[in-house]
Amino acid sequence: MKLNTKFGKFGGLFVPETLVAALEELESAFIKYKDDKKFNDELNDLLKNYAGRPTPLYFAKRLSKIAGCKIYLKREDLLHGGAHKTNNALGQGLLAKYMGKKRIIAETGAGQHGAAVAMIGALFGIKTEVFMGSEDIRRQRANVLRMKLCGTKVISVESGSRTLKDAINEALRDWIANVQDTFYLFGTVAGPHPYPTIVKHFQKVIGEESKKQILDTEKRLPDYVIACVGGGSNAIGIFNEFLEDKNVKLIGVEPAGHGLNTNKHGATLNKGSIGVLHGSMSYVLQDSDGQILETHSVSAGLDYPGVGPEHSFLKDVKRVKYESITDKEAINAFKLLSEVEGIMPALESSHAIAYAMKLAKTLDKNKVIIINLSGRGDKDLEQMEFLVK
Ligand SMILES: *Cc1c(COP(=O)(O)O)cnc(C)c1O
Repeated sequence: MKLNTKFGKFGGLFVPETLVAALEELESAFIKYKDDKKFNDELNDLLKNYAGRPTPLYFAKRLSKIAGCKIYLKREDLLHGGAHKTNNALGQGLLAKYMGKKRIIAETGAGQHGAAVAMIGALFGIKTEVFMGSEDIRRQRANVLRMKLCGTKVISVESGSRTLKDAINEALRDWIANVQDTFYLFGTVAGPHPYPTIVKHFQKVIGEESKKQILDTEKRLPDYVIACVGGGSNAIGIFNEFLEDKNVKLIGVEPAGHGLNTNKHGATLNKGSIGVLHGSMSYVLQDSDGQILETHSVSAGLDYPGVGPEHSFLKDVKRVKYESITDKEAINAFKLLSEVEGIMPALESSHAIAYAMKLAKTLDKNKVIIINLSGRGDKDLEQMEFLVK
C-alpha cells in the first residue's frame, strides 16, 4: 500500500488475503486518477450538471431566531438523489468506469446509498447489484422501488439481524468471489483501507464549498460545524476543510436510540470500545467477547454498530467532540425544521439539528453555527405520519 493506511492506531485492512490484491488495485487506480485532469473534468461536470453542485449554504432566519444565534444549513438535501451519498457514488462510479470494471456491487441500509449507486449505474451504463438486509427491504420500500426502477438487482440478505452489517458481510463475500470484473462501491468512510480515504476524497467538497460560502456571507469562519454520524461520511465531508482551523469547533452527533441507558443504542463513539469490524480497527459496539451488538435508531441510516476510523482518531486526539441525541429529540427537530423553515430534514440530519438547538441556548447571539443537512426527509414521511394531525 502506498497511501497511509491508518489514522493514528485506527483503520488498516483486516481482510482475507484474496481481498488485499483487490484493495491494492483500487488504491493504485485512485492514486492514478484523483489528480488526473480528464477524470476530474468529467467528475466536476457531473457534480455540477447532473447532481446540482454547489449546494446552497442557507441562513435559516426563523430557526436562528428560535435558537438565539445564527444558524446556516448546508443543503445536501438538495443534491440529486436527496442526500450527500451522490458525491461518493459519482466519484467511485467514475473510478469503476476508468478501471474498466463490468459490474458494481454495493451494500445499503436505509437504501439511500443503494439508490445513489442505482442512479450512477444507469448513468454510466454499468450493471449494478445491491445487497440489502431483508428487514431493511421491508422497512424501506420506496428506496427499493427506486433502485429497481433504475435497473439494479436488489439481493435480499437473510443472515444475522438482516440489516446493514449483514449486507456488508454478504457484499464482501461476493467481492472475494468476483474480484476480477467487479467494483465494490462502499458507502461511507468505514471499511478497510483505502475506502475511508477514497470516500473522504469524494465528500470533502461539502466542506470546501461551505468555507467559501460562509466567508462570502459572514466574512469570517463559523464558531461551530455540526453533522450527524452514522459511518461518518457526511461529517468528515464537512469537517475536513476546517480541521486546521483550531477556533472552529467540530461536533459529530450520534444516535442514542431510546437513550444511552438502554441496551440497544447506536452511539458507537460514546459507548463502544476499540475493535475490528468490516476490515478496519475503530470504535465498535461489541460485548466483552467481541461479538457485535445489535443497534437501534429511529433513523435507519445511522443504525450501524461501527464508525469510520478517522472519527475514532479525531475523538482520541480531541479535535472533534461526539455527542448523542435520542430518537425523541431527533423527531422533535424533524417537526421543528418542517414547521419553521418548510424544510423537511432526513431523520439522520435531524440529530444534528436537535443538538445544534440545544447548544445554541448556551451561546450568545453573534455565534455562527453551520449544520450539515445531509439529506431530505421524504423517505421518512411515512414513518413520521403520526406527527400529522
Ligand atoms: C446515509 C446517511 C447518513 C449516514 O451516513 P454517514 O456516512 O454517516 O454520512 C446520514 N444522513 C443521510 C441523509 C444519509 O442518507
